[in-house]
Amino acid sequence: MSWEAKVEKLMSITEGEVFEKATLQSLWKLMNNGYIDTFEFPISTGKEGNVFRARRKDELIAVKIYRINTATFRSISKYLMYESPQKVKKDRRSIIFAWALKEFNNLKKLYNAGVRVPEPIAREGNVIVMEYIGTEEQPAPLLKDAPLENAEEVFEKIKKYLHLMFHKAALVHADFSEYNVLMHNGEPVIIDVGQTVSRDNPMAMEFLQRDVKNIVRFFKKYIEVDEQEVLKYILEG
Ligand code: ATP
Ligand code: MN
Repeated sequence: MSWEAKVEKLMSITEGEVFEKATLQSLWKLMNNGYIDTFEFPISTGKEGNVFRARRKDELIAVKIYRINTATFRSISKYLMYESPQKVKKDRRSIIFAWALKEFNNLKKLYNAGVRVPEPIAREGNVIVMEYIGTEEQPAPLLKDAPLENAEEVFEKIKKYLHLMFHKAALVHADFSEYNVLMHNGEPVIIDVGQTVSRDNPMAMEFLQRDVKNIVRFFKKYIEVDEQEVLKYILEG
């Protein structure tokens, strides 16, 4: 198939979304290597990227595509804005690639540590292929939107995952809240680990405190929880 035909095919299955050439190349590579067969629909369209539902044979998968020309690129790498445009363009791409690789590697570490996250499947450039969380009908809702009948149980699981994350994967999520937990069959699944840092990061404790504060604030609507107790539980070996 010609390059133009490949692009056209990708455009039609991604509902007219405009992608950079580097993104199309990554997508095409993943399709050629059998990781993605067809795109179905966008699950989420954000400033920094999109998540699509796709299919690999009969299996549903999720494909996260980081935008290379993201408007919020400044927050990822401020200093590059002062470089020459050509260099910025080149470095932008490699920085976004590194960012996607970081998320993919964090998913692997967490998955192997027993934290319930989408299973990582493949990474190419700025594209991550992972396990799809949801049903044939619809993607799993965020914790913030999900009906919560067993808040106590769900919170215990989340606490356990944060403990495993800290001690077994040696990571701190750093953007943890009801916006980055999916609820699937009554079970919490943690997502969005691009910004996740090593426990050794000088900011790790600050991030962990903020993560705990966020999730405790949310669960206080349902159950009695104490921020300091939760933090102590997570930090204890
Ligand atoms: P946002 O700024 O919208 O939070 P993001 O860049 O932080 O986007 P994610 O949080 O990883 O990206 O994913 C965006 C949305 O896509 C999630 O809120 C969730 O609804 C959906 N999503 C992400 N990963 C999966 C998955 N593996 N299965 C199903 N849905 C997913
Ligand atoms: Mn998110």
